[in-house]
Amino acid sequence: AKNVGGSSCVFFRPKMKALRNRNSVIEEGLGGDLKANGFHYTMQPQIDGNSGNLTGVEVLSRWTHPKLGELSPLEFIQLAEETGNIVPLTSHLLTEVFAQIKEWEKQFGWNLRTAINMTPSLLGNPDFFDSFFKLMDRYKIKPSLIEIEITEQAELTYSPKTLENLLLCKSKGISIAIDDFGTGFSMISYLTHFPITKIKIDKSFVQKIGQDRKSEAVLKSLIHLATSIECELVAEGVERREEAEFLQANNCSIFQGYLYDKPLKVSEFEAKYLQSPLF
Ligand code: C2E
Ligand code: CA
Ligand code: CA
Ligand code: CA
Repeated sequence: AKNVGGSSCVFFRPKMKALRNRNSVIEEGLGGDLKANGFHYTMQPQIDGNSGNLTGVEVLSRWTHPKLGELSPLEFIQLAEETGNIVPLTSHLLTEVFAQIKEWEKQFGWNLRTAINMTPSLLGNPDFFDSFFKLMDRYKIKPSLIEIEITEQAELTYSPKTLENLLLCKSKGISIAIDDFGTGFSMISYLTHFPITKIKIDKSFVQKIGQDRKSEAVLKSLIHLATSIECELVAEGVERREEAEFLQANNCSIFQGYLYDKPLKVSEFEAKYLQSPLF
């Protein structure tokens, strides 16, 4: 270890050691049988505010770890990225989700779009998309029912391979969304470099509706931008009626957030949305 003289060592070392231990426990789980280790996923509805209809879902990973309990996806996705486990994790997730929507197609005539989060490193991966498309074929999933959400864990830097993969997705009819648009790495330049079809407005903008005029102005111009380049729009983190009303009045009417529903377990989602006569 580096020589960090002084009393700061006393606090620093045990914390670092605990974190290293925690990370290695998680890493071990990432390399093992994910399902047996408590990895699963939830689905959060996306609702059309004009009709009240369900228009799609976002898949959100969950991990109830046998030793560590409930883990945040922010923690284990980050670790999966760092340890080279993001490809097998996402492939496992896709297999589970595809099998489920195939089942729902048979049972309920499922025809909703399902959004899956993907980190930038996956998008430039030469093998990942190969297996992604093969998996789609194997489960006979219509590409138009799948959406990729490009998450903001790292910058999506331009590479010919990334562009090639995304163009291939688009040509198949897969929708490509930028997550958390307007924050962190999720930048306007993505719109000109990549074949983006949808923008997800970050909840930090939505939360300031009714509270901060500048954020409202930025929000309006984001909606205007998306509309003028013919991108679809969804607002995330909609919690208050006032937020939905403001968004709707400004031409953004697809909503995701606690006002409508939280991310639901697959069984809860099925009971609430699919077994109802309206679906
Ligand atoms: P995200 O993609 O921006 O997902 C939205 C997050 O906001 C989710 O947190 C969701 O539970 C939460 N949320 C939904 N509605 C509301 C609301 O009305 N108010 C507030 N305050 N929050 C709301 P979650 O599930 O903890 O996920 C955190 C992040 O982890 C996700 O952010 C995404 O970046 C990442 N993530 C989750 N699953 C996956 C995955 O399978 N793959 C990848 N690459 N990333 C994932
Ligand atoms: Ca997302
Ligand atoms: Ca988001
Ligand atoms: Ca986020």
